[in-house]
Amino acid sequence: MSQAPRRVGIIGGGVAGLTAAYRLLQRGHEVHVFEAGDSWGGLVRTFDVGGGRLECFYHHIFTTDTTIVALLRELGLSPRLVWRDSKVGIYYQGRLYPFVTPIDLLRFTPVGLVDRVRLGLMGLYLRRQSDGQRFQSVTAREWVSRFAGERNWQVVWGPLFRGKFGDMGDQVSMIWLWNKVRLRFSSRRGGPLQKEVLGYLLGSFGLMVDELVARVRALGGHLHASTPVERVAVDDGRATGLRLASGTFVPCDAVVATVANRIFLRLVPELPEDYAALCQGIPYQDALCMVLALRRPLSRFYWLNISDRSFPFLALVEHTNFIGPENYGGHHVLYISNYLEKGHPYFAMSEEELWAEYRPYLALINPEFDDSWVVGRWVFRGPDAQPVFTVENAGKVPPHRTPITGLYLANMSQIFPEDRGQNYSIRLGEQVASLVAQDLASVSAYVI
Ligand SMILES: Cc1cc2nc3c(=O)[nH]c(=O)nc-3n(C[C@H](O)[C@H](O)[C@H](O)COP(=O)(O)OP(=O)(O)OC[C@H]3O[C@@H](n4cnc5c(N)ncnc54)[C@H](O)[C@@H]3O)c2cc1C
Repeated sequence: MSQAPRRVGIIGGGVAGLTAAYRLLQRGHEVHVFEAGDSWGGLVRTFDVGGGRLECFYHHIFTTDTTIVALLRELGLSPRLVWRDSKVGIYYQGRLYPFVTPIDLLRFTPVGLVDRVRLGLMGLYLRRQSDGQRFQSVTAREWVSRFAGERNWQVVWGPLFRGKFGDMGDQVSMIWLWNKVRLRFSSRRGGPLQKEVLGYLLGSFGLMVDELVARVRALGGHLHASTPVERVAVDDGRATGLRLASGTFVPCDAVVATVANRIFLRLVPELPEDYAALCQGIPYQDALCMVLALRRPLSRFYWLNISDRSFPFLALVEHTNFIGPENYGGHHVLYISNYLEKGHPYFAMSEEELWAEYRPYLALINPEFDDSWVVGRWVFRGPDAQPVFTVENAGKVPPHRTPITGLYLANMSQIFPEDRGQNYSIRLGEQVASLVAQDLASVSAYVI
């Protein structure tokens, strides 16, 4: 008995929504994707720098990101995927220290020799732990301070956590760090003592988004950009369609939401309390990136963590120390990165105001820096860009199948304990497409 095609409405045209659409179309369903923004890709959207295409927010992948590597192969994009050594450093009290290999660690004099050895042992120890559950109920701050010493938290790990989670860094569960250390060690060429390698799609990850969009169209999918969804229609405990901001109603047999929890709760006020509480229990940080196109490189590092709380930003990502400036008209591209709690004044600042805050600190990184180096400047804001797993909410992830029949959630708050990233959003899209297809098949069989 072949299954009659059913209409699936997908909310959000980032990589999760586009992947879910692609997989559902391959299974023969009718798919409509609604995206509030005027372009596709969500947090992987791109812009032009010196004739080259670049992500608005810095992006790379790890060798352990096997789902995205497989998708790139399927989309015919593998020839553009390159792997390069990562160049990570730490700024501490006016100096830049490389921080990639065990030798770098031994030379990192801001912490004493005994603490450096403890830090190295910590990495080796975590790498060998196959079960992360016991790390779930302790904060990374407590665990690292106990295992490797408070100084290592203050100088090395604390700034890394603030660089990622802003002011919530001290509350993040140790399970997150356990998983990160294991994955990062696996992303090293030739074992744990070697350099880490990172992957990038030459031409930007926007090419992957373009190809997904092209395949969705080729399979007959309907893509609606600049079309925000206002409500999921629910009747008698079942999702029946989507109400668009324009007032149009689109009847659906199933609905997949890939938006952040805050938005999801607004779209579906009928969600039962228990499920809504799981969604509410995961806070998010907003991302704020200023991108500079420079005449000269600021440093020799790709990724520079700032171990100094007086700085108005958390990390500098100099993309062209990873992928050469020849790809961007000879410009050196620098992201000035911040993760901020909701309502932080920086998020509402104009580009000029933000520049006035940031500019003096670039000269602390490189004393030769001056305004004449800057040939381009952009600011990108990503609300709800980083879910935070603290000891209170770690592991309390809302399931993809919601208590409302025919309504599914596939968003970054369900990526745990891994760090959210394109790889896992693609995996979410694939998983939710399988669930939807399974459920629609059982409903069809029943109806027939
Ligand atoms: C600063 C930064 C750095 C990052 N670095 C990396 C990296 O190095 N490597 C990596 O792999 N990943 C990285 N990521 C993460 C990666 O970008 C995300 O994991 C991934 O893009 C999330 O995709 P998504 O589809 O799950 O969500 P999103 O991209 O957030 O997509 C959700 C979409 O829903 C849309 N939407 C919202 N409300 C509505 C509505 N009412 N109606 C219709 N549409 C709506 C939004 O406009 C958005 O397009 C980074 C992210 C940030 C912010």
